[in-house]
Amino acid sequence: MAEGLYCVKMRASQEGRHISGAERIVPSAAVPSVVAQLAARALKHSKGVPDFVNVKVERPGEIVRLKALPVATNVTRTPAEGRALAADLLRGAGIGRIDEIMALFRETYSMRGAMLLDADTLERLEPDRARGVRATCMDAADSIAKGSAADKNHYAEAIVLATKVQHAPGIVAEICVSDDPDYVTGYVATRGIGYQRITVVKEKGDPSGGRIFLYRGPREQVPETIRFLEQQAVMVEDVPSLDMCHVGRARARPSRMDILADELAAVEAAGLGRRCQVSDAPTGPTTVIDGKPLLVLSSNDYLDLARDSRVTAAAAEAARRWGAGSGGARLTTGTQPPHVALEAHLARFKGTEAALTYATGYMANVGTIGALVGKGDVVLSDELNHASIIDGCRLSGATVMVYRHNDMDDLERRLAGLGVCRRRLVVSDAVFSMDGDMLDLPRFLEICHRHDAFSMIDEAHATGVVGATGRGLCEHFGCGHPDVLMGTLSKALGSEGGYVCGTKLLVDWLRNRSRSFIFSTAPGASAMAAADAALSVLEAEPERVARVRENAAFLVEELARLGVKAATQSAIVPILVGDERWAVRMAESLRAEGFLVPAIRYPTVARGAARLRVAVMSAHTRADLSLAAAAIARHYSGGE
Ligand SMILES: *Cc1c(COP(=O)(O)O)cnc(C)c1O
Repeated sequence: MAEGLYCVKMRASQEGRHISGAERIVPSAAVPSVVAQLAARALKHSKGVPDFVNVKVERPGEIVRLKALPVATNVTRTPAEGRALAADLLRGAGIGRIDEIMALFRETYSMRGAMLLDADTLERLEPDRARGVRATCMDAADSIAKGSAADKNHYAEAIVLATKVQHAPGIVAEICVSDDPDYVTGYVATRGIGYQRITVVKEKGDPSGGRIFLYRGPREQVPETIRFLEQQAVMVEDVPSLDMCHVGRARARPSRMDILADELAAVEAAGLGRRCQVSDAPTGPTTVIDGKPLLVLSSNDYLDLARDSRVTAAAAEAARRWGAGSGGARLTTGTQPPHVALEAHLARFKGTEAALTYATGYMANVGTIGALVGKGDVVLSDELNHASIIDGCRLSGATVMVYRHNDMDDLERRLAGLGVCRRRLVVSDAVFSMDGDMLDLPRFLEICHRHDAFSMIDEAHATGVVGATGRGLCEHFGCGHPDVLMGTLSKALGSEGGYVCGTKLLVDWLRNRSRSFIFSTAPGASAMAAADAALSVLEAEPERVARVRENAAFLVEELARLGVKAATQSAIVPILVGDERWAVRMAESLRAEGFLVPAIRYPTVARGAARLRVAVMSAHTRADLSLAAAAIARHYSGGE
């Protein structure tokens, strides 16, 4: 494989101090011109005029071929921003002690090679500390194809080097700050996040810079790592060309899977990665995660019905009697007596003529909006509506108009400005899921009525919580019904599934036209029976509704007493924090103390509007809530 190939290495120094270096692996015919190019490059380096230039030509041993790391460019404006990003990227790759690592760049400038550090202890592992470890003997495969050394190309060379380094045994990350006073860029590279170029990491004219390689592995392996870095010939394929590198988001012609891996790694690196944690306990106000007992302040099971023995018995009995799954869509063989019974019960509970159930609340929204409006129609949606409403609006094909949160004047203006369109639908959360506030339903209904628009509200967080007996917003305001009363069985009702209550006409229409109802298997009888039983418990024990609201009010009072502002009209108590990282840190600290309170941040809420979102249950005790409020207040003021 190495037949006819030569490694040409250049290095230049001034009074023994390293100035520049470069290398190529090229066919023998290209060696003379490459030697000339590299020599020319050595003589005009902005780091200084060399008094010694060494160009070495040698036959490499076996060549290893590697695929270039995926490349992404992160645009930063100031060195501080660039360094903070580098720190974030490294942290995302599981490397801490960033400040100490960054401080070591004071020492790297005069080194010919890179610093090799133990990623955890930061011990230096290079045998010769003044020299460091030099990653050499590598090139981009493309420069062979072209038969000549490419023009000076800092980018491609850096990607080649970073790719080689990340394949050395035990290396987990590299951080590089350009050592050329004219360049202000740097990068962080790991196998996971690829080559993350950062446009500004230092001031222009600043001569400091260098490379740090981070190693994690047995000490006995270090010599092999150094051998790989310094001697193993490596050819890197698919290095992005200079042109590609200049565009905002440069990448090395990524394959479809590389795109996923690359973007996922960036998400992880930004601290926005998401994973499922296992709650190792029955649904309820406490749980166990990773062996740690936690007070759950984030559950939608507001009335503690998911584990209620009457509810679980109904589910078990229905599964035994009717089967674990329904075996078909509702319009084929999937409708069983529990489906029919629940729909009748829901309609009674909400005071409507009829009801229809869906497999999830998400599907109820998507299928209902799409059945009511389509191309040529208009749907108006509150800017803080739930994602399933947003998706329903988009999928419907109707023109979507987003009005300001709970701003009925804005809604009215927009409706008044509409020309002739076939249909209009106005849709809103009843209780907003991130803020816990409530829609002004009477005004909403009046406006919809006056403009002959369908009115639809999503009572996911209202059912079981709002209204004296938990029947939702209509009960709370003592007003009439919207055309569509949508909700979910998965929150206060402790089961799963979605529903729509309304007139018989509406329900007949949806049964005929709602695609997520028609083209999906009916939910199992056990989920239906569980929700039915939960409704019965709710009707028999309306004090649960009072208790969850009293608990929410108590928490708000406790927080206020401790200097933390919060307000709610439901069981959701948002505590505005603002800064994303602070919110995440608070959530982590609370968790360490046994309180499960999620930090909600962009993109779920606006940037800079990060918050802790507490969800209160009827089953929380005053003592639980006092302790939680005290912990929240302690961390809240600790961050200011
Ligand atoms: C949870 C939720 C839904 C979706 O209900 P699922 O049954 O979980 O699919 C819809 N709307 C709102 C406002 C919600 O909070």
